[in-house]
This record gives sequence, C-alpha cells and structure tokens, in this order.
Amino acid sequence: MLNKKTIRDISVSGKKVLVRCDFNVPLDKDNPNVITSDKRIKESLKTINYLIGAGAKTILCSHIGKTGQNKSLRPVAKKLSEFLEKYVPLLKDIYSDETQNIIDNLNDGDVVLLENTRMYEEEEKNDPEFSKKLASFAEIFVNDAFGTAHRAHASTEGVTHYLPSVCGFLIEKEINAFDNSINDPKRPLVAIIGGSKVSTKIAVLTNLLDKVDTMLIGGAMSFTFLKAQGYNIGKSLVEDDKLEVAKEIMNKAKEKNIEFLLPIDHIQSKDTSGIYDAILTEDQNVNDDMMGLDIGFKTVDMYVDKIQNAATVVWNGPVGMFEVEEFANGTKKIAEAMAKSNAITIIGGGDSVAAVEKFGLEENMTHVSTGGGASLELMEGKKLPGIEALDNK
Ligand code: ADP
Ligand code: MG
Repeated sequence: MLNKKTIRDISVSGKKVLVRCDFNVPLDKDNPNVITSDKRIKESLKTINYLIGAGAKTILCSHIGKTGQNKSLRPVAKKLSEFLEKYVPLLKDIYSDETQNIIDNLNDGDVVLLENTRMYEEEEKNDPEFSKKLASFAEIFVNDAFGTAHRAHASTEGVTHYLPSVCGFLIEKEINAFDNSINDPKRPLVAIIGGSKVSTKIAVLTNLLDKVDTMLIGGAMSFTFLKAQGYNIGKSLVEDDKLEVAKEIMNKAKEKNIEFLLPIDHIQSKDTSGIYDAILTEDQNVNDDMMGLDIGFKTVDMYVDKIQNAATVVWNGPVGMFEVEEFANGTKKIAEAMAKSNAITIIGGGDSVAAVEKFGLEENMTHVSTGGGASLELMEGKKLPGIEALDNK
C-alpha cells in the first residue's frame, strides 16, 4: 500500500497548489496542435477537479517531449479548457512578471498551466534554483505525474524540498494497482512478459519470479530463451550475450517451482515487413531462413487457458510484432482473453498499453498504466524517486 500522503490528507481550500501532471501526450507528426491520444489528460482530471471543487488555486505544470525540442503545451491547455469547462490559460514564461502577476491574482477554483518545464535545461538537471522558482508559486505541491515519477527532475523531485508534498489520485491509483497485484495478489498470479529484448526485462523477470505462480514468455525475447534451450530460432531476434542469463532465469523458476512457459509454436516470415507469407511453425523451431514474429496458435491456446484460470494477470511486453497486421494475432488474443476474464488485469509498458488501446480493450481491463518506464520500474520492484520524495503518511 502507498504510504505517502495524498491530497485527501491535507487542506487545500484557498491555497495555491502546484500540480505536476503528466501531459506528455503524443502530438500529430504533421500538426503539433493535434493530440493523438488524450488518455493522460483525461487521467489527470480527477485530481484537478478535486482541487477546483475544494477551492484551491491550481497551478499545473508538466513536460512534453524532450529537452531541446521546445514543444508547447498549448494544445493541452486547450483540451483542459474543454474537459474542465473553464478557461485554462497557458503561462508562457515561468520567469516573467506577467506570470507572477497572474498567479498572485488567482481566485479560488482557478486553474492555470505553466509552459513545458523542459523548455528549461534546469528541469532535467534537477536544478535547485529552478525547483525553488517553481515552488515559489505555491504553498503545496501535488505530484500526479506517474509517467515521470521514475525521474528525479526539478518539477518532480526538486520541488519537494521546498513545499509540503503529497500525491494525486492518479499516482495513488497506479501505485496501488501494481502493488496489490504483484505484492499481495489474488492467486493464481499469471505474468505475461514479452517485448523485444531480454536485456530490458531481466529485472522484471527476476522480481516477478519471486511473486508469480505462472510466467508466460512471448515476443522476440522468447528466442533468447529458446536458443538457450537448444532450439533452432532461424533469423529471429536474439541476444547471444544473454543466453546464460536466460538459462539462469529458467533454473531459478524451476527451483522456485514456478510454471515457466515458452512458446510451443510461432508465426514465422522472411522478414518483418508483412509482405511475405506468414507461416505457422510445426513446433518450437523456426526455419533457418525465417524470423519468428508472433506466437503460434497452439501457444495462444495454451496461454489463453492460463489466463482464464488466473485470479490476477500482469502483462508487460507484446508477444509479437503487433504493429504489423500479419503478426498481431497473438497479442490481440492475449488482450482479448484478459479483457474477457474476471481476473484482476494490469497492463504496464509503453508498447503493451499501445496494443491494448489499438484493440480498443482498455475499458475492459482493471488497470492500464499511463507510464511506460515508470510502470516497468514498479514491476522491477524499484522505488520511484518522484514518489519517494513525497511526505509520508
Ligand atoms: P513494452 O513497451 O510494453 O515494455 P517492449 O518495448 O519491450 O514492450 O517491446 C515492444 C516491441 O517488441 C514492439 O515494438 C514489438 O514489435 C516488438 N516485438 C515483439 N515480438 C517481436 C518479435 N517476435 N520480433 C520482433 N519484434 C518483436
Ligand atoms: Mg517499449
């Protein structure tokens, strides 16, 4: 359980409250005024509406994009104005007298948005002077930027040194979803781990091996495990320097009596383009001139069966190259089985969340995380600096 104070634990009425949100939304490549997914904005509304209702003076801030890209939060201010049904001005220069004036004259229930914190180099450097400047606008700090909670930046960690600091409803929801399902799960707990590289998932695999009853492996990652077991993987993606690690993980699973399953068949093709035939393999082996790009039908059946019998399912990493139609079946079937099941279903990881959204199944899951990297670190059992820095209960 989250041991940090939330906005419920403090009085915000009439107070100036600085809220770090995660408005790092994807923008259309051709038109940077168009937001292509407003999930993160919608997820921030509960905290903002609570503050408006409580009569706080709300000063929102967030980054968008990378330092140096100088993307503007203008489309976010517009979206927020629509969702909140009240005008949310964008304050373009954190250091200007105008910004200070507007903030000094806020009325209870007003909301303003500071421009992209990453327009300032100081943000990612966690510069104390910049943190102090941000803190100077307010009397209370609320961190609700789950997607950036794994980074100690000025607007996530730095400001907590200068203000009473609590978390918002989104962070509370994210932490509790992962904590309950991994550390105090209804059993059986089934984890599905896929994605492109074993190397990026070693910490997740190792942490979850201490928690799960069943581990289902998919994605390109499975070929490092299969090669380590002596199977032919053809031209599939593989990390040859991780074969020993793969063996160790499988040995550990055996020692702990955990059911650790690898694909028993695959969809293979000549390359990733989707223009060549996508063929089912007979068994675990991939043809010499082919790549394994999705789990096969027998594997789908086996994994779906495990999902149907689970009380909790945690998923990170697509089980195939789902971005290409020909190789999306496995990932789609996993997502559908989770959506249909009565189990607690938790999805973390940027691409896994994108897959669930692509199939339109978000609403049928218990929790679809708003943070790719941050959710991965939670599944690794790590503490997130942006959350650790908040006041304890
Ligand atoms: P997440 O962001 O959910 O943690 P990853 O970043 O680890 O997931 O992996 C996602 C990527 O893995 C996707 O872009 C997908 O195309 C790729 N992928 C999955 N299976 C395969 C495969 N068999 N061959 C090549 N790429 C794959
Ligand atoms: Mg990813």
